[in-house]
Amino acid sequence: MTLRFLVTGGAGFIGSAVVRHLIAGTSHEVAVVDKLTYAGNLSSLAAASKDVRYRFFRDDITDSRRMREIFDEASPDIVMHLAAESHVDRSIDGPAEFVKTNVVGTLVLLDAALAHWRRLSPERKARFRFHHVSTDEVYGSLGPAGAFDESAPYRPNSPYSASKAGSDHLVRAWHATYGLPVVISNCSNNFGPYQFPEKLIPLMTINAIEGRELPVYGDGRHVRDWLFVEDHVRALMLVAETGKNGETYVIGGEGGRTNLDVVREICAAVDRLADNGRCASEQIRFVADRPGHDLRYAIDATKIRNELGWAPREHFERALEKTVRWYIANRAWWEPLRAGVDGIAWRRALR
Ligand code: NAD
Repeated sequence: MTLRFLVTGGAGFIGSAVVRHLIAGTSHEVAVVDKLTYAGNLSSLAAASKDVRYRFFRDDITDSRRMREIFDEASPDIVMHLAAESHVDRSIDGPAEFVKTNVVGTLVLLDAALAHWRRLSPERKARFRFHHVSTDEVYGSLGPAGAFDESAPYRPNSPYSASKAGSDHLVRAWHATYGLPVVISNCSNNFGPYQFPEKLIPLMTINAIEGRELPVYGDGRHVRDWLFVEDHVRALMLVAETGKNGETYVIGGEGGRTNLDVVREICAAVDRLADNGRCASEQIRFVADRPGHDLRYAIDATKIRNELGWAPREHFERALEKTVRWYIANRAWWEPLRAGVDGIAWRRALR
C-alpha cells in the first residue's frame, strides 16, 4: 500500500538517506520539511527531488502555524521526525538553539500531528504513526561492561543529549496522555556518505585526504558503536511501518571501537585509496578532551532483532571503505561546506 510520509530534517545526513530510500526503493509519497540550517543540504536530495512523489517545504519545525498548514497539505500516514540540532560540540557552545529546535520543535510537531490524527478516518487513524528518531546518548555513559537496552535509565550528559531526552519524554507523554500513535527509536553513532564534515568520521576522512592534522579528543579511548547509515534506514523503515504503537526500539551495530582505532582505520583506508603518497596516521594529534565526554556507548539490539527481524548487514571495515571512497569521489559535495562553514568542531579541535 502506498503511504504518505512526512520527513522532518530530510535534507540532513540520515534524513536524506531516508528520503533517497523512500523515493528509489518504495512507492510511497514523501513530503520533506527542513529549515536548511548549516547541516541541511539540498544537493543530498538532487536525484530524489526529480520524482513526482517528492515535495519539499523549507520551514522551521518551531513555526506552529506552518506545521499545521503542512500537515493539512501533506496529510501524512507516517511522520518520521529527524529534524534536530545534532552536534554535541555546538550544543556546548550554544545550548539554547538545541532546546528550541529539539524540545520546542518536537512539541510543535506533536501538536500538529495530534490535530491531524484526530481528523483522520478510523482506518487511517489506526495506521498513523509519529516516529521520533532519537539517540542512544540519552542514556549517558557506560563503564567498561554492559550495553543499553530499552529499559536503560535516562542520564543525558550533554546539552544535545538532554534536549533529545526531553523530546523523547514529550513523545511518550503525547502517547500516554492523548493516545497519539507513536514509536521511538534510539540509535548509536551513524556514519556513511553525505555526513556533514564536522562529525568524527567525515572530519577525519577529509583531513586525511587533504594531509591536515587529525585532532583526536583526549586519549582517543572513547568507545562508540558505529552503524552504517543504510542499516539505520532499514531499521527506521521497519520501526515506522511495523513497530508496535507506543514502543521504543534501540538500534546499534554491536561493534564497539575506540575513536583512535576508527581514526587509524580511516588513515589506512585513505592511504590505500587516495593514492596521495602520504601516511595519514602521522598526522594524528591528541587535543584537549570535550567537557562531559561520555566514555562508552554500546547497544543491545535484541528487541528489534527478535520482534522486527532487523540486523545490520554491513561490517564496519567494508562500510568504512565505502564511505572513504565516497568522500574521495565527491569533493564537489563537501568542499563548499568545508570552505564556508563556521565549524565549531574544527575551531575547538584545532585550538
Ligand atoms: P543532521 O544535523 O545531519 O541533520 C539535521 C537536519 O535538520 C538538517 O537538514 C537541518 O537543516 C534540519 N533542521 C535543524 N533545525 C531545524 C528546524 N528548526 N526546523 C526544520 N529543520 C531543521 O542530523 P543527522 O545526523 O541526520 O540526525 C538526524 C536525527 O537523528 C537527529 O534527530 C539526531 O538526533 C538523530 N540521531 C543521529 C545520529 C547520528 O549519528 N548522526 C545517531 C542517532 C540519532
